[in-house]
Amino acid sequence: MENQTGPEPNELRVDSAYLEHLNLLEKSGALDDISALRKENRELDTLINDATTLISLAEVDKMIDFVISRFLERFIPTHFMLLIETPRGGGFSHYSYHNLRKDEHKFPTAYYPVLKSFFTASPYPIAYSELERRIGSDGLGPVFRDFDPEVLFPMRGLGVLYGIVLLGRKIAGGEYSEPEKVYVDRMTRFLSIGIQNSLHHESSITDLKTGLYNHYHFMQRLEQEITRIRRHGSRAGILMLDIDHFKIFNDTWGHLAGDEILVAIAATIKKTIRAEDMGARFGGEEFCVLAVECDEKTLFDMAERIRRAIESLVVPFGGESLGVTTSIGCYQIEGPGPILAETCLGRADRALYLSKAGGRNRSTLYRPGLLGRAAALRRSAEAGAGLRAGPRL
Ligand code: GH3
Ligand code: MG
Ligand code: MG
Repeated sequence: MENQTGPEPNELRVDSAYLEHLNLLEKSGALDDISALRKENRELDTLINDATTLISLAEVDKMIDFVISRFLERFIPTHFMLLIETPRGGGFSHYSYHNLRKDEHKFPTAYYPVLKSFFTASPYPIAYSELERRIGSDGLGPVFRDFDPEVLFPMRGLGVLYGIVLLGRKIAGGEYSEPEKVYVDRMTRFLSIGIQNSLHHESSITDLKTGLYNHYHFMQRLEQEITRIRRHGSRAGILMLDIDHFKIFNDTWGHLAGDEILVAIAATIKKTIRAEDMGARFGGEEFCVLAVECDEKTLFDMAERIRRAIESLVVPFGGESLGVTTSIGCYQIEGPGPILAETCLGRADRALYLSKAGGRNRSTLYRPGLLGRAAALRRSAEAGAGLRAGPRL
């Protein structure tokens, strides 16, 4: 048999023509370009992975912690600060790091309006020296220099600026490289998107006037809780609160005073319930509480605590000290078994009706048989019993 010689099919043929081509490619800079592209590809891959992780986080604080940890893995700035405008004009959130450690320094918010108008007109990262040249050191104030600022990044969303990222001088390694600046800029943009998503979600479940959860979200949580109770046989409670004679209050003091009362009641409910419970504005002057893992006594005690706290509220308005009372209906949900959210709410509402009919400013716990009493009371009310208690004006 003849001996086969020559290259194996996959063997690289290193001949003079090949070397010549390689030489040409090297001279033309194409090999360097390929290596730079590979590096860029790796950077983009990292960025996409980091952005995906960031967007999947639900809470803004977790997003910020993640971004900060990713930045600090790449470089150590003397100072690193994030200033975020809290939604609806509620002030600022500060995140400040000095030599890798969290510290108490605060971004000088007095200069935020100047920066905001600058970045609104020109929403791009800028070297601090250039920013100072454009705005003037008077506009920025000397206090900024204490933070060794090197680059500032705007956090921009749809038509709005959410905040500013300040990157101080690097501790080691000279100036920031272009890829480092690009990484910070892109991650800042993703962080803005994350914050924006979170704000939209928050506003879709929150009542604008009181900051409590809204009706829609209360119903969602109630359904979830009922599913849990049905399955595991646990228990929970609902409180339904309604302000007494609020129409007369509004007619007497005006709707703005009424709004102040709604806000004060919401704050009282938030303060009085446990962290795991949920308070919501159910409708105009009606509030609901969902109390998890709650027996009848605890539920009724909670209702009375809230009712008394509201009764002793003093709301200053236009030189007057105003106050109201509330009536509350309580219903304890106990599993397992078929339970419907509408039935639970209906029963809490019936108990509330009894509190109203019984003279207001009181709590009533739903019990079977209450239906007949409520109907009898409704009939007597229709027969002209009228209102008995006046508003606490
Ligand atoms: P009752 O003790 O039987 O509950 O009497 P009420 O006057 O509170 O009940 P009614 O249902 O007759 O009136 C509710 C009032 O709540 C009327 C409405 O103007 C007021 N209200 C509802 N939403 C708001 C709000 O957002 N702001 C203000 N200021 N008032 C509100
Ligand atoms: Mg009402
Ligand atoms: Mg009312």
